[in-house]
Amino acid sequence: MLCVVTCGTTINSYFCAVVNVQNLFSSQMDKRLILTAVLAVVAVTGLRAAVYDEWFEDKTLRIDFVFSGHGGESFVGVDELVSFNGWAGRRDNLLDAGPEGNACVLVKDLETGEHLYKHPFSSLMQEWMVTDEAEVAARSFENPVLVPFPKKDVIVEVYFRDSYGDYVKSYAQAVSPDDILIKDVSGKDVTNHEFIHKSGDPRKCIDLVLLPEGYSFAERDKWVEDARKVKDILFGHAPFDSYEDKFNVIRVDTFSFDSGVSVPHEAVWKSTVLGAHFDTFYSERYLTTRRMKSLHTILEGIPYEHIIIIANSDVYGGGGIYNYYMLTSDIDNYPQVLVHEFGHSFAGLGDEYYYEDFEDISLALYKKGVEPWEPNLTTLTDFESKWADLVPDGVAVPTNDAEVKEVGAFEGGGNASKGVFRPVYDDCRMKNNESKRFCPVCERAIGRVVELQYNK
Ligand SMILES: [Zn+2]
Repeated sequence: MLCVVTCGTTINSYFCAVVNVQNLFSSQMDKRLILTAVLAVVAVTGLRAAVYDEWFEDKTLRIDFVFSGHGGESFVGVDELVSFNGWAGRRDNLLDAGPEGNACVLVKDLETGEHLYKHPFSSLMQEWMVTDEAEVAARSFENPVLVPFPKKDVIVEVYFRDSYGDYVKSYAQAVSPDDILIKDVSGKDVTNHEFIHKSGDPRKCIDLVLLPEGYSFAERDKWVEDARKVKDILFGHAPFDSYEDKFNVIRVDTFSFDSGVSVPHEAVWKSTVLGAHFDTFYSERYLTTRRMKSLHTILEGIPYEHIIIIANSDVYGGGGIYNYYMLTSDIDNYPQVLVHEFGHSFAGLGDEYYYEDFEDISLALYKKGVEPWEPNLTTLTDFESKWADLVPDGVAVPTNDAEVKEVGAFEGGGNASKGVFRPVYDDCRMKNNESKRFCPVCERAIGRVVELQYNK
């Protein structure tokens, strides 16, 4: 049922780690949300862009959400509010970060309701909610979100996407900038870090942080070298090579007591900074951390927008969740997996691979008649909003001819062999390990995110 559970056993070698949960909420959950939430189904689109300086300080507000779920019901709570000087994120496109994701946080003016800032993302909790375990157990997931620090009282809302592709409001809280319980950590010691690629002011550039997981202090030199490799792998791959001057890359130096990461299916448990382990949701290759609060606490005071975690392990695996983080291992043997996972976490790209025996698209987390939010997948429900403009004259849609080398709409994608369509027959980083590039549709989607997030 869950993509990560079914992945890892096929020739398509990518474990499916992104949260592509289109039909996340069962009818039971929909009912629960309808009963418990403030009950607004909104299309968070077409919003007027706010002027950054009018509404926000040059300061970050971190809201430490905790998402919990059980038996089809989900709950949102807040652990703590934290602030620190500087805002590294978007200043130009406050309501548009790119793909919409499975969830979003929306900041609104308390007085007028004007939409001020939107942060789309996907979450591990939403993925877990469709596992069998969620029927018999309750779990909580730390999910801190960064927003610019408001100058006036605001409302912060959390939306989850329902099975029809609509955002459903699940939580709302007023936040006052004068609240004495917002913990200001501006003066605290900042974790050791170093810019290993600096294109400009962090307030302007897109800031990537690289964190080590399972590197002991004795392996510091290895980490320094691996971080350099990560930067080179990423900017050696199109289209990121074209955008190198729009990014900063910051190496963060946090070291673990043990060397290596936990591998439960081998009964190996390590003491590491982020507590990452394989076998997430019992899927062997699925490597994640749930210590999100620790992760963000480490990063307090460092300018960051996207998080890349490198596990010191030669066990194959990883995961990438949109606007959340990506985690990968064995960058020496599988450098392309790093780029694939970054496609998930940075640009919200979906997996373009599929399984021949996986025909039921509802099992693949997509719904017939609902256009996926991922820019490189379609159910042909609203193909015009996707890449119809990139299909040359003479190429049929859907595209049934495997010999067509151009962009079309080939059936099979997002795990499912039926009902979901991908842009090219085979040659894309989101499809297989052998490709050397992203397809034109994925390249365009990545470029769009860069343009939206780079502050001019
Ligand atoms: Zn692609």
